[in-house]
Amino acid sequence: MGTLQAVSGMNDLLPGDGTTARWQRLEADFRAVCSRYGFAEVRTPLCESLELFQRGVGETTDIVEKEMYTFKDRGDRTLALRPEGTASAVRAALEHRVLDREPVVRWSYLGAMFRAERPAKGRYRQFHQVGAEIYGDASAAADAEVIDLATSFLASLGITQCTVRLNSLGGPDARARYRDALVAYFTPHRDALSPDSASRLERNPLRILDSKDPRDQPLKAAAPSILDSLGDEDRAHFELLQQYLRALGVPFEVTPSLVRGLDYYTRTVFEIVDTSGSLGAQDTLCGGGRYDALFTELGSHAPVPAIGFAMGIERLLLAAPQPEAPKPFRVAVVAAAKSHETPVLAAALALAKELRANGVTATVDTRFGSMKSQMRRADDLGSTVVLVLGGNEVANGTVTMKRMATGEQQSLPRAESIHTLATEALGAR
Ligand code: ATP
Ligand code: MG
Repeated sequence: MGTLQAVSGMNDLLPGDGTTARWQRLEADFRAVCSRYGFAEVRTPLCESLELFQRGVGETTDIVEKEMYTFKDRGDRTLALRPEGTASAVRAALEHRVLDREPVVRWSYLGAMFRAERPAKGRYRQFHQVGAEIYGDASAAADAEVIDLATSFLASLGITQCTVRLNSLGGPDARARYRDALVAYFTPHRDALSPDSASRLERNPLRILDSKDPRDQPLKAAAPSILDSLGDEDRAHFELLQQYLRALGVPFEVTPSLVRGLDYYTRTVFEIVDTSGSLGAQDTLCGGGRYDALFTELGSHAPVPAIGFAMGIERLLLAAPQPEAPKPFRVAVVAAAKSHETPVLAAALALAKELRANGVTATVDTRFGSMKSQMRRADDLGSTVVLVLGGNEVANGTVTMKRMATGEQQSLPRAESIHTLATEALGAR
């Protein structure tokens, strides 16, 4: 029988080369930054009804048209693996009537998303996002805080070579005006458009601006600007947002061609793009915007303004510098005993347990080979200190403590060794 492999575009993370540790640090950084901005984590299921994403992401988006993993469960329900986090979070907020209790909700999330795309560097079929959203606040200040949260998080990861691109898509009136302007502009050139874009000309002409197809690029470049279609209130909101961002010291570039792939955006949209070149074609780290119509789209009786962003963890880790991880403080307990001397082996296990209970990372080579092989394993694991326990030590209530860096060795009471190492482990944190 052949060996089995993971599904293409769905990756394992292994601890040995420090990958899992990098992920855990990023997740901890994200949670820390979010909590300083007053965002609390929501966790929703990996799988939802297909209808949620059809309504919440939009029928004419790439995600719904060609990227979703959908299936029927045994009860003949049509489900989808979540391709993004916002639709589920809004569904949860509505289902649990969260806004009946809180006027403004700040939620963050983190987890796996699934899209059946062609795998490439920075593009996977199971990928992971961190995201944050504010519900119940229509102000430009909320937009500014969300964008500031995103850039602060990037800074905490050491990602400095990036640009915030900002645009406004206006409200429904502006969108309708702009839609007409685009249809008028593109229709005479329909034959020059890619088939995807040509088919979107009537259904959703804005999405043509989001196309990455080379055939669409020359026409896109000369298309009318949405900013010319904005109404007075949209324009005031956009101006205020820019003032706030300047006050917060968040640099940005107004980018009128930025429309973003999802259908539900209104007013503010933004992206953060990596400019270091380390990501190749997949250089968008973050996408976000305001989606004031989504709550009603998903069944809310009252409209609820909302804004949020999502970032791909894999791309963040490709863009972030990789500082040498500090060597953790760890202790190895070595049993100086033959395999039949079980009281000594048991004492070694018990000593490791007591160290762990006192906050010390402690290992035992439970194969209990020779002293020499246990010492070698302790060294390979990067142990700072080795505690040797033989028959005499167990009888006297002592241990032999060896410092790996210097080779210095001393005998001391068992309780004292635990106390000393607990203090050192605390200091090394
Ligand atoms: P792209 O244009 O790269 O396909 P998108 O517009 O589809 O991105 P969003 O839906 O806005 O992406 O998702 C937000 C972020 O999630 C992206 O900026 C990116 O960092 C990440 N992301 C999206 N799709 C993938 C994927 N297939 N693999 C890895 N990361 C992804
Ligand atoms: Mg995409």
